[in-house]
Amino acid sequence: MKRIVVFSGAGMSAESGLKTFRDSGGLWEEYDIHEVATPEAWEINPELVLDFYNQRREQVLQSKPNAAHHAIVALEKKFDVVVVTQNIDNLHELAGSTNVIHLHGEILKARSVKNSDKLYNVNGPLSIHDRADDGSPLRPHVVWFGEDVPMYELGKTIIQSADILIIVGTSLNVFPAAGLVLHAKEESRKILIDPNEISIGSFPNLIKVQEKAGSALPRVVNDLLSNNH
Ligand code: NAD
Repeated sequence: MKRIVVFSGAGMSAESGLKTFRDSGGLWEEYDIHEVATPEAWEINPELVLDFYNQRREQVLQSKPNAAHHAIVALEKKFDVVVVTQNIDNLHELAGSTNVIHLHGEILKARSVKNSDKLYNVNGPLSIHDRADDGSPLRPHVVWFGEDVPMYELGKTIIQSADILIIVGTSLNVFPAAGLVLHAKEESRKILIDPNEISIGSFPNLIKVQEKAGSALPRVVNDLLSNNH
């Protein structure tokens, strides 16, 4: 069975009503990244950080997978599919994808600030008074700017194993995650879906589909399912 790896970013969930970060009207126009998504921000003003992520969580809880998430699930009929996502929402899982790696964490989880293995499911707002069972405060289980990406090596191994790599809804601007796609095998087929022009340099066997995920992915998936790749 051939392996398809889907590398997704914020644009994947845009048609579910979740804002991307860098587009016009995106989240970084409303918030200063340094004030809400860094370890320093957490030191200086944890309430503001929690408030930012409480809003993100609330929006995720109100959103539903879109046609692009559902199309990826359909690929599992014929391929070994792994989704490597930069997204912190749970829309791939809600759609039914069975193998999803979250490079930047999950908004519906919190963790002890002292022990990153102590994870808790969260379905409502977090407060600075919430504690892990080791007694230390809980923080959102997301990777902040300036922090290590613990799933990086796993993500790299998975991308290296792809026969077909679908890159969708990412500006490829957030490193180190964006650099992962460059580890794809030269001979693997690559399909990049994004309504904006994404510069990726020299990347062999690449097809660009300059379109929104919700219309492009169902078509791309149909093609992959109906032809012998
Ligand atoms: P980004 O905001 O840098 O880029 C988003 C990309 O999506 C852009 O290239 C844009 O052209 C494209 N896009 C917009 N609408 C689209 C659509 N309908 N279909 C396909 N593509 C579309 O996002 P990024 O590259 O993922 O990096 C930003 C970081 O922000 C990530 O690390 C991620 O963790 C985080 N983030 C996550 C969410 C989420 O979980 N839903 C939302 C916002 C940001």
